[in-house]
Amino acid sequence: MMELLWLLLPVAAASGWWAARRGYAGRNGATVRSAEYFKGLNYLIDDKPDQAIEVFTRMADVDRDTAETHLALGNLFRRRGEVDRAIHIHGSLIARSNLTADQRRRAMLELGEDYLRAGLFDRAEALFRELVDQPDHMEVAIPRLIYIFQQEKDWRQAIAYCDRLERIGGESKRRETAHFCCELAEEASARQEDAEARTWLLDALARDPDCARASLLLGRLAMRAGDHRAAITAFQAVERQDRGYFPEVIAPLGQCYSALGCLDQWVCYLREVQERDHGGRITDALAEWLLQQEGEDAALQFLERELREYPTLLGLRRLVEIKLARGEGAEYADLRALQCISTQMLNGAARYRCANCGFVVKSLHWCCPSCQQWNAIKPMPDLVMKTSG
Ligand SMILES: [Zn+2]
Repeated sequence: MMELLWLLLPVAAASGWWAARRGYAGRNGATVRSAEYFKGLNYLIDDKPDQAIEVFTRMADVDRDTAETHLALGNLFRRRGEVDRAIHIHGSLIARSNLTADQRRRAMLELGEDYLRAGLFDRAEALFRELVDQPDHMEVAIPRLIYIFQQEKDWRQAIAYCDRLERIGGESKRRETAHFCCELAEEASARQEDAEARTWLLDALARDPDCARASLLLGRLAMRAGDHRAAITAFQAVERQDRGYFPEVIAPLGQCYSALGCLDQWVCYLREVQERDHGGRITDALAEWLLQQEGEDAALQFLERELREYPTLLGLRRLVEIKLARGEGAEYADLRALQCISTQMLNGAARYRCANCGFVVKSLHWCCPSCQQWNAIKPMPDLVMKTSG
């Protein structure tokens, strides 16, 4: 109830102002208006929002003086989730010929918001496009258009409007536009147009030199072209740009070093990274390499030493698996149970988490489905139990 009262305050204020103003024109009219206003207010206080809205709607015969009441009333409906009614009010307002230019533009802005809320992006886009050249409204209209183009995956338009926003002194969108370039690169790559994809990725890095996604995609393109040296350079850049994404390049890096027959260099590099980051995936990758190259004892010694200081579920499971591979007898029953439990935990675990809102998911999303922030979802250093997503 209190929430609604607060929402209706602009309507009430506009109506009160209207009533006061009309007092100059006619005392009787003003008295009737005031009576209606207090009637509406009483409904609100009595917790009868529907009747209150009805009264305020009745008061709002459209002319220039009551346009403010209409705008406030339409906003109220939208905030209550009654988007159809908001669209009706703002739409009828725009249809009137007696509004000032500023009132008409504000009504267009509000109607655009209504359409956005209703998911009618094409209609919202048409309205915001009419407003982007208006100095008083462009700073609101441009971000709305950017949002619409992102929803429609029209990345070129999204980039163009982000650049325009930056030019008029709005916030920098370089991190976002780098991702939009990466989206275009992924589309080109899916069409096998690698040269175009590469151009977009270089554009992404020019916009945001720390765009790890661009390096990751450049590495994949180089791998596809059979250039493993170039792929290694691109994948290694990921660790410098944003260490959080390094787990994403462990497997392809291992493949590149393997293809070049340089596994010694691979393990040197992994150990170097591990000095800075003792996450479960790096530990697991190192243990796997030791197992293959130096045997069980070397892998076990490494894991026992590492896990004592940096316990991770992935490392623990690897340790149990290596020990189990040594025998099948009854004395291994406890280890088998431990393997079963750790596998169950890992199967039910989320691998990625949003640093902004905490949303957890099993696969990498460059834009968080929950808070819509780019570059916020990162691989977990180790795994956690999945609680959502
Ligand atoms: Zn998020």
